[in-house]
Amino acid sequence: MTPRPLLLLVLLLAAPAQSAISHRPSAISVDSISVTHTFGEQMIFTLAAHSDAEITQATLLLRVGADSRTEVIGADLFPAPQIETQVTLDLQTQPIAPFADVFYSWRIADSSSETITTPEQTYLYEDNRFQWETVARGAVRAHWHSGDLAFGQSVADIGYESLNRASRLMDTSPPDQVDIYVYERLDDLQSGLRLGGRDWVAGHADPSLGVVLVNSYADTAALLELENTLAHELTHVLIYQIVQAGYDRMPVWLDEGIAVNSEPRPNAIFGDALTRAVETEAIIPLESLCGAFSIDSSRAILSYAESASLVRYIRDRWGPGAIRDLLTAYREGATCEGGLQRVLKVSFVELQTGWESDVLRASPLAAFLREAMPYVFVFGPVAVILAALLFAPKRKT
Ligand SMILES: [Zn+2]
Repeated sequence: MTPRPLLLLVLLLAAPAQSAISHRPSAISVDSISVTHTFGEQMIFTLAAHSDAEITQATLLLRVGADSRTEVIGADLFPAPQIETQVTLDLQTQPIAPFADVFYSWRIADSSSETITTPEQTYLYEDNRFQWETVARGAVRAHWHSGDLAFGQSVADIGYESLNRASRLMDTSPPDQVDIYVYERLDDLQSGLRLGGRDWVAGHADPSLGVVLVNSYADTAALLELENTLAHELTHVLIYQIVQAGYDRMPVWLDEGIAVNSEPRPNAIFGDALTRAVETEAIIPLESLCGAFSIDSSRAILSYAESASLVRYIRDRWGPGAIRDLLTAYREGATCEGGLQRVLKVSFVELQTGWESDVLRASPLAAFLREAMPYVFVFGPVAVILAALLFAPKRKT
C-alpha cells in the first residue's frame, strides 16, 4: 500500500480553501473604537484591531462641525497582528467649538496591503463639566444644568417664541433644529469659548452648528433679559441660513446690526454710547466695523450701537428689501464695500456721511420722526379710528 492517493486527496481539498482566503475582502478586524474628552483640554480617540498579517498603519480621519476640511492624523504604533493605539487632540492649541459634532473614521492598513476604513461616526463635543438636562419645543431644544424642569421649559418657550418672531422679521423659515445651552454662571460660559479677552460677551451663537450659548437662571428679571439675548443670538442663526458659506466674510456691522434690532426691548446703553460718541467726535468709521469688534468693552458697545443705527438707517432710506439684498450680495461673496455699492449704490464714505447727517446730527424733531415713523404707520390708522369714535358727534336717542 502506498500513501500517495491520500496525500493527493488532501492537496485537492486544500486548494479551494486557499483560493477562498485570497479572495476575501479583508483580514483586518476592528475590536473596539472609542472617544473620550476633557472639555477644553483634550480629546482621545482609541482603536483596537487585529489582522492575519501585521497591522502597519492606523490613521484617524477627522472633521469638525460644518468644516469641509478633513484632517488626516497618523497614530503611533509598532507593527503587530494585534494593536491598540490612540490619537490625542490638544484642545488648548487646537480648540473645537463647544457642542460641535465631530465626525471621524479610522483607516487601517496591514503588511499584506489590505486596508479598511471604518464607517463614519459622530461624537458630540459637549461641555461635560456639567450634567445637562434637555427639553424641546418645536425646533428648539433647551439644555440647562441648574434649576428645575419649569426653568428649562421657560427657556424652551422663550426660545420658541424668539425663533418664530425672528423668522418673521427676517422673512425666512426657522431651521430644523437649534440647541440652546443655558449656563448659570457667565464665567463658565466665557471660559468655554476662548474669547481672547472679550469678557463683555454675554451670549454666543455658533450659527453653522445651530448652537446658542447663553447665561441665565430662574429669576423673572433674568428671564426677561433672556428674551433679548435669545432674539439676538437666534437671529445670527437665521442670518447664517441665508448667507451660508459667505457668513464668515460678511460685514460684522450688518450681522450685529440686524441682531440688535431684533431684540424686543431697546438697550439704553447703545443710545447713550452713540450720543457720547457724537459729542466727543469719536464715531468709529464704518470701514472698521467690517471685521471683528474691539476687545475693549466701551469700543465694542459703540460698535454694536453704530451697527444697529446703520441697519435702521438703511431700512428707513432704502426699504427692508435692501437688507435682504445685502445679505444676498454677501452670500455671493461681495466685499464689505462691494455689497454696499452693488445694492445701495454708495461707497463707505457716502453711506457714513448720509447716516451721520440724517441720523446722528439730525435735528431732534427729525430724529424723533425717523424713529417714530414705523409706529406711525402701524398705530396711525388705529389712532384715526379711535379719534373718529371719540370725537364723532353723538346722536341723542
Ligand atoms: Zn451678536
